Amino acid sequence: MRTTVGIIGAGPAGLLLARLLHNAGIDSVVLESRDRAYVERRQRAGILEQGTVDVLRAAGAGERMDREGLRHDGIELRFDRRRHRVDFPALTGGKSVMVYAQTEVCKDLIALQLKEGGPLLFEAEALAVEGADTDHPRVRFRHEGAEDVLECDYVVGCDGFWGVARQAIPAGLSRTFERTYPFGWLGILADVAPSHDELVYARHDRGFALLSMRSPSVSRLYLQVPADTDAESWSDEEIWAELERRFETADDWTLRRGPITQKSVTPMRSYVHEPMRHGRLFLAGDAAHIVPPTGAKGLNLAVGDVVTFARALTHREETGSDGLLDAYSATCLRRVWQAERFSYDMTTMLHRAPDATPFDDRIQLARLDRLASSRAAETDLAEGYTGFPVG
Ligand SMILES: Cc1cc2nc3c(=O)[nH]c(=O)nc-3n(C[C@H](O)[C@H](O)[C@H](O)COP(=O)(O)OP(=O)(O)OC[C@H]3O[C@@H](n4cnc5c(N)ncnc54)[C@H](O)[C@@H]3O)c2cc1C
Repeated sequence: MRTTVGIIGAGPAGLLLARLLHNAGIDSVVLESRDRAYVERRQRAGILEQGTVDVLRAAGAGERMDREGLRHDGIELRFDRRRHRVDFPALTGGKSVMVYAQTEVCKDLIALQLKEGGPLLFEAEALAVEGADTDHPRVRFRHEGAEDVLECDYVVGCDGFWGVARQAIPAGLSRTFERTYPFGWLGILADVAPSHDELVYARHDRGFALLSMRSPSVSRLYLQVPADTDAESWSDEEIWAELERRFETADDWTLRRGPITQKSVTPMRSYVHEPMRHGRLFLAGDAAHIVPPTGAKGLNLAVGDVVTFARALTHREETGSDGLLDAYSATCLRRVWQAERFSYDMTTMLHRAPDATPFDDRIQLARLDRLASSRAAETDLAEGYTGFPVG
């Protein structure tokens, strides 16, 4: 098999990249190790930045998102039984975010790719990227029990944190930056209307909690738990009782309960691999970086990377210049580190570390109080949450 761009992974990064290249008249082949149903069901992110919404619309993949997604103009911070709303459009010159699940983004992009795009092979596992530093990189992969080779001009590793693409960069050229947090998120999906019409980020002495939603009838809620927690060790009753404690307010706000349909624990990690390019191999999305989910940045960073790559390759096709491809890693990393900083700030402001001292508690409350009383501090949060510019 031969193609211009070999894409490993059909998560949001790989699927959107295939769509952007198709729209630019550049052919690609997507290899995905899992089956279609698995990819379409995998529960992950749910908040799309303004820039991501704009990119999906421009790519012709925004129709259902515009019909079914929920536009949010703010979030609520909850601490010390107080409530403070951050108004995004007022602070950012009109920006907002969209609640539309990653599962739905993937379903929309898969349907478009299968209808109009190039080959998208499910159950096709990339085994290795070879010749990344030559003009003819290859992906060795296994599909339907047989090994095959995909010959490419470029390979983009969109294969997530556990993928194979990153391994093709020689260890001597790689630098990694990492922080693992001593807590994770116990996440639930519940068949009940959200108890608030915007996301609620709660800082509590017992730990962080987040109220989010997937639709007007499905709530997504999270509790900070120790990193090694088994989701099944929490009964439904214990989860609801703990959520009620952490969301408690001084007014008459109440949490709606409903049947829990899914429970899982997500670890919290910050990770960056530099550089994001080696020869004709480019890394995009979780293959190159991970953020803790507190800032809702993971999916949005993946989108920024593939937009940058598609622009750079289109520029090369149009002008013959490699300039933007050469700048790919530095261009992406600038935005990646802003998202890492933002996610770190949100995480450390809202979560209670196991070894937190009374001094740390007071500092967290002072940071939140500053946000609630300073337009400058609030603007910084609103700009970070609605998204840093691409490129
Ligand atoms: C449990 C969990 C919960 C999350 N929750 C949130 C959240 O609430 N908010 C948020 O913003 N972000 C969240 N994230 C992060 C967000 O989902 C990711 O940043 C986003 O999925 C990145 O997209 P991606 O396409 O780069 O990688 P992925 O979505 O990981 O896609 C990679 C794809 O590559 C495939 N693949 C892997 N190896 C191979 C191989 N060898 N050959 C072929 N295919 C391969 C995988 O099957 C997968 O389909 C969460 C992540 C996890 C793991």
